[in-house]
Amino acid sequence: MSDLRMNVFKAGLEALYLTKAHRLMRPYVGGVGAVLMLHHVRPARQQDFAPNALLEVTPDYLDGVVERVRANGFDIVTMDEAHDRLVAGEEGRPFVTFTFDDGYRDNAEYAYPVLKKHGVPFTIYLPTSFMDHEGELWWLVLEHTIRNEQTVTATIAGETVQLDCSTPQRKREAFHRIYWLLRSLPETELRACVRDLAGRHGFDFRSTCRDLCMTWDEVRALGTDALVTYGAHTVDHLMLAKFPEETVRREMSVSRQRIEAELGRKIEHFAYPVGDPTSAGPREFSIARELGFKTAVTTRPGLLFPEHRDHLTALPRVSLNGHFQSMRYVDVLLSGAAFAVFNRFRRVNAA
Ligand SMILES: [Zn+2]
Repeated sequence: MSDLRMNVFKAGLEALYLTKAHRLMRPYVGGVGAVLMLHHVRPARQQDFAPNALLEVTPDYLDGVVERVRANGFDIVTMDEAHDRLVAGEEGRPFVTFTFDDGYRDNAEYAYPVLKKHGVPFTIYLPTSFMDHEGELWWLVLEHTIRNEQTVTATIAGETVQLDCSTPQRKREAFHRIYWLLRSLPETELRACVRDLAGRHGFDFRSTCRDLCMTWDEVRALGTDALVTYGAHTVDHLMLAKFPEETVRREMSVSRQRIEAELGRKIEHFAYPVGDPTSAGPREFSIARELGFKTAVTTRPGLLFPEHRDHLTALPRVSLNGHFQSMRYVDVLLSGAAFAVFNRFRRVNAA
């Protein structure tokens, strides 16, 4: 979501909360459930420059969300149960399922104790190259480089730009500029640019992955708890819609096989990296279905409706994102009112 869209969305959440309109709308837009999406969970850090802050929440916030979700009358279920309820299509209590992307170590360190305390099941989607510690977390490498440097030189689409990064404000501007330029490129070029940028500034591209992501041993250790479900999230965390079909099939099936081999259990759920419409579309949804995944989740915002029974590999999610760490937003998000407005009252958007 761009900054502008996010600010509009946030203003919308606030307006819905203040007018209490979400309460009136819930019977009409409330859906049958929600897949909550998280990335990092860790204590808050005081930083002037934190362009990826939307991808992290604090353990206390997660704790509050669990209580709030239950107080709002939602069952908290596994991804398998969410799938079964959608397929059965019965009217019942609304449900929520918790999902975490990318396999960050802080999920085991900070999220797990909170979820364990409440007996909350959850799913972690693993990009297998991250567990091999060879992943390219380019958005974090970009952040790291800009944080450490006064000036950043990047060559993007053949053009070399030098950006002033001497103040937090300048760093934010530089990040924003480079990030969206990169996002417009084919992903192989994007990766090459960030590798080049990191190289120029003497930063080891792979250290981010080693520092932040679980190893296979850590994945196995956490996975001994029955609360944990693992899903696949490709091998190289690619924006699949930008690649040829063979790559998409390979990324989906090889990552699944690898996790199954490492853990000795069947992997039936998938999450599309980045997961917005430029990264996952109808072609990816049908390949995931063909490959036999029971569910696949996007990052398109929305609640689950009975109609999603026919779109199990194109499920929307509700982002519990660092910019909305307020309990009042949880009520509004789960009421569905914000998404109804955001999605112009379409319940399913799988195009
Ligand atoms: Zn991801």
